[in-house]
Amino acid sequence: MLPLVDASCFPAENVIRLNKMPGPPLIFWEVDCQRDFMLPSGKLYVPGAEKLLPNIRRLTDIARDGRVLLISHGCYHTQDDPEFKSFPPHCIKGTPGSQLVLEALTDKVFTIPNEPSATLPKEFADYHQIHLEKQTLDIFETRHAQELLDRLPKGAQFIVFGVVTEYCVRLAARGLLERGRHVSVVKDAIETLKREDGERTLAELKALGAKFISTDEALKLAATDHTQFS
Ligand SMILES: [Zn+2]
Repeated sequence: MLPLVDASCFPAENVIRLNKMPGPPLIFWEVDCQRDFMLPSGKLYVPGAEKLLPNIRRLTDIARDGRVLLISHGCYHTQDDPEFKSFPPHCIKGTPGSQLVLEALTDKVFTIPNEPSATLPKEFADYHQIHLEKQTLDIFETRHAQELLDRLPKGAQFIVFGVVTEYCVRLAARGLLERGRHVSVVKDAIETLKREDGERTLAELKALGAKFISTDEALKLAATDHTQFS
């Protein structure tokens, strides 16, 4: 019979390690957190979006600390972009409105324009944030999104947040789910243009297998050990 072991025999750090279960790799996925959407002065302001900024800052801080990789994307349009037949002009490339809000931006960003000549970084681990430029609502219509996704761990949990719930957040989360990825949407870090459409989107994503978590829960997940990758 084994003798009972007094836990006080173990150094504290070992006891803590025993209580920490490694989880799947986490990837944060940030959608359209640009000035034209997020700020009341923006060209296509999403009402209430500025209230998400503290949570978006907290989520982005995890990437700033190098604890998760942040994938982000945003609209970068020309003056006469066909999308402006459906939406007011917004996020014209080079204008202040197309910039990410500071809350959503780390200091180690690799930007990938939606151009054939653009390439992905050799080592993702050299960056805190990989930022994709897009011209249509669906990030998976851009040239480099699939290649980027293929380089990320298959079993990773994708933590999705940003705007707009029923447009680009929906298509990003849906695209990940359809490609067999695990998705959690951060319900207090997304915003809708139309409440009913937002609710319909959440029901659709839930039926496809998405989970819904809070910013606090996302931070807790990030505090759990997870496998690093390059
Ligand atoms: Zn756009």
